[in-house]
Amino acid sequence: MDKPDEKPRPRFKLPLYGQLKEHVSFSELKLFNECQWRWLLRKVMGHDVIDRSFQMDFGKAVHSGMEVLYSPDGTVEKATAHALAMYDEALGTLQLTHPSDIAEATRIRDSIPQFYRDCLVSPELKGITTLRSELALMLPINRTDGLELKFKGFIDIVFVKKTPGGKKTVIYIADFKTCQWGWPRDKLGDISVTAQILLYKHFFCKLTGADPKNVKTAFILLKKKPRKDDITVQVLDVSPGPKMVSHAIEWMQQTITDMHRYDYEQNYNACRSEWVDRETEETRRAECQFLGTDLCPGSAEAWAGS
Ligand code: SF4
Repeated sequence: MDKPDEKPRPRFKLPLYGQLKEHVSFSELKLFNECQWRWLLRKVMGHDVIDRSFQMDFGKAVHSGMEVLYSPDGTVEKATAHALAMYDEALGTLQLTHPSDIAEATRIRDSIPQFYRDCLVSPELKGITTLRSELALMLPINRTDGLELKFKGFIDIVFVKKTPGGKKTVIYIADFKTCQWGWPRDKLGDISVTAQILLYKHFFCKLTGADPKNVKTAFILLKKKPRKDDITVQVLDVSPGPKMVSHAIEWMQQTITDMHRYDYEQNYNACRSEWVDRETEETRRAECQFLGTDLCPGSAEAWAGS
């Protein structure tokens, strides 16, 4: 099914006050930019849901295993055992019914040990020294409108690495991302993707006093279905120059301003997504939990007949 034509985006002015929270995270900023109404329902009006899927449980388990791998006495075996136990425990509480889901949940489980083995042979990760994993950030955001807000985040891993030639040492901050085969080429051109790691860099430098010129940023992709002859781990450097970081800060500041305008848009274009499973070639669909409910007026009509 083709993506439907761009749908109208009605706006509503609401006299709410629950927006005034102590902190904001990148995922909340991203949620707001996807659909302001969904953000309002979940984060302000309390209709939040605990997102659960086997893919999310898998991502959490693999992330947690990475923490073990890069801890002072971490090994591939310890990381694998930790991630498998965590994933198995989570799967035991999920009721998977779709045959494709059951097959996929098992298949990706089998891929877990390879991530940790590949981290050790990845050319980009060879010779790194881990400084921290899961570094917590909770720092004030400078605002000119009097809002007192902090930025909250967790940096998956901070490590140091020698530059080619070994003359200089550079600090890297990186975020692990599980994915299927990799990322499309243009994904790093999307500010709503790169802002995460760029904001982490900005607040990391604030926290530690590190010279921004000496701090690089990367996403570390963990591929569930790497292409033939590819390893499962790929380090994608994100250009962390001052312009890019400023752009990410502007994106964050504008989003916070919009969150406090008391005027929110329903983005019907974000109600549904669909994709083709590369292995089974089956079309899969997902939809927003508020689609067609009284909490999102007009959404049912917007999608009627699609
Ligand atoms: S149903 Fe669509 S418009 Fe409504 S909250 Fe969800 S994504 Fe937004």
